[in-house]
Amino acid sequence: MGELIFILVSIYLIGWLLFWSFKKIKELSIFLSEKHKEKKDVCPHGISKGDSANKCLTCAKEKEKLLINQQIKENSKQLHQDETKKLLKQMRKNNKYLQSLSPQEFENVVSDMLRELGYNVNQTPYINDGGKDAVAWKDQKKYLFEYKRHSRNNSIGRPMLQKFYAAMIEEGTDIGFFITTSRFTSAAIDYSAKYNITLIDGDRLRELFEEAYPSSKNQRYQVMCEQCGDIVFFTNLANTEHTRCKNNHVVYCNINLPSLLNTQVQHVRQCPLCGHKLKRRSGRYGSFYGCMGYPHCRYTERM
Ligand SMILES: [Zn+2]
Ligand SMILES: [Zn+2]
Ligand SMILES: [Zn+2]
Repeated sequence: MGELIFILVSIYLIGWLLFWSFKKIKELSIFLSEKHKEKKDVCPHGISKGDSANKCLTCAKEKEKLLINQQIKENSKQLHQDETKKLLKQMRKNNKYLQSLSPQEFENVVSDMLRELGYNVNQTPYINDGGKDAVAWKDQKKYLFEYKRHSRNNSIGRPMLQKFYAAMIEEGTDIGFFITTSRFTSAAIDYSAKYNITLIDGDRLRELFEEAYPSSKNQRYQVMCEQCGDIVFFTNLANTEHTRCKNNHVVYCNINLPSLLNTQVQHVRQCPLCGHKLKRRSGRYGSFYGCMGYPHCRYTERM
């Protein structure tokens, strides 16, 4: 009899304990979820709805700082682009750079330079240029231009000048400029004297670029500190170069020649006709760039 009472009391006690702890756990979970909810409405600085309505001064300041940082990043990017363009213009005097361009880019770069020198340049369509790359006007006179980008020791001979002279006659002008990155053979020089063709070799071309884009004595390039927006200057362009801004942040030189040359050489070019990539191919007459859209597109570029 005593055992039965003991068992009944035990069951009652255990049951009550279970009920009580269940109730407590439920209370605790409600308390926790409420606290979590509260946290959402309170900013990290303990102010109710502080970050939503700018009630908290610290939150407002942080927001403003974030906006300023974004603005600095954008300005810094813009400055980098502008300074890179400036450097690219200077690089046109660099033969290695000119050699790294595609034939079409080379023609564009030379035409831009002539425009800078006051010529009203009309580039002929790139494909099938018929011995002339540009027709230009200056002081009511008509000029004919031919550009040939050759390596330094691959001189321009007389046959190319004869073809150019034929184009001059066809265009009805007697002022012709033959431009190359290399030199001219003596036969070509004799021929040019007879037919009033002005020869521009690699050295003279560099002088023309210098005339169009004069380099100042101490050419400086600007870089913006991404942390505070201060502007620092570099004359030596190497990505290891660095200096400190007025707030003592380290600022690295992010514009430099080798990286620009690399991107120029490696960058993938697109077919101007169909937009496919151009690929280096070799054929009966040597290497050339061909459109990946072949045979639908038959665009090619000389190398
Ligand atoms: Zn706050
Ligand atoms: Zn700074
Ligand atoms: Zn194509």
